[in-house]
Amino acid sequence: MIIAIDGPAGSGKSSTAKAVAAKLGFTYLDTGAMYRVVTLKSLRNSLSANDFPALKQLTDSTKITFTGAPPAIKVWMDGEDVTDAIRSDEVTKNVSDYCAPTVVRESLVDQQRAIAGNTNVVCDGRDIGTVVFQNAELKFFMIASVEARARRRQKDFEKLGVTKSIDELMKDLEVRDHKDSTRANSPLCKAADAEEIDTTGLSFDQQVEYIVAKANAILNK
Ligand code: C5P
Repeated sequence: MIIAIDGPAGSGKSSTAKAVAAKLGFTYLDTGAMYRVVTLKSLRNSLSANDFPALKQLTDSTKITFTGAPPAIKVWMDGEDVTDAIRSDEVTKNVSDYCAPTVVRESLVDQQRAIAGNTNVVCDGRDIGTVVFQNAELKFFMIASVEARARRRQKDFEKLGVTKSIDELMKDLEVRDHKDSTRANSPLCKAADAEEIDTTGLSFDQQVEYIVAKANAILNK
């Protein structure tokens, strides 16, 4: 069974997907982490996001792996633990440019399908319900107001000892959402058969329980 969760940055989809996967005993696949790995390696190699041949070579030859069980999942790039490095400000600010080229997306979508195989998976991203797993049994599109999303991001940064203003975070989210929603290939959008969940006024536990209940209804049929 595949549960696809898409939505804009900070809508709560990753933390929700991880908790749902942990409760159901499913694999968790963080596709955003894969685009972040490609971005990190490209930046380290001073590759331009417009150099498509070089980006293709880099994406095809990079070994991206995940270890551990949700929520404590580690992300590896060619054997190096990059779990924290891919969350840096620099990667976050550049990822929407490096993830857009078709050569990058085709390579990573192939890898995502291979990782999922025939297992039970909760997968989150921007194009999961529309492109990667169009036949997913359950599809959700999580949204929240930009202010609510910025407040969540601010709390995440506080845990890392970093202070950011709500205005700056709102601006960063809006820029990233705009790029992700307007790119030519696989833009961020709700699949026609996805259910929208507005998390602005929901507690985290409510979001998780809602999806788990839907999944159990199918599993127990
Ligand atoms: O989910 P996360 O915020 O970590 O994703 C980082 C970026 O990766 C997104 O802003 C988007 O540009 C890209 N992404 C994507 N398609 C996905 C997942 C993420 O384009 N399926």
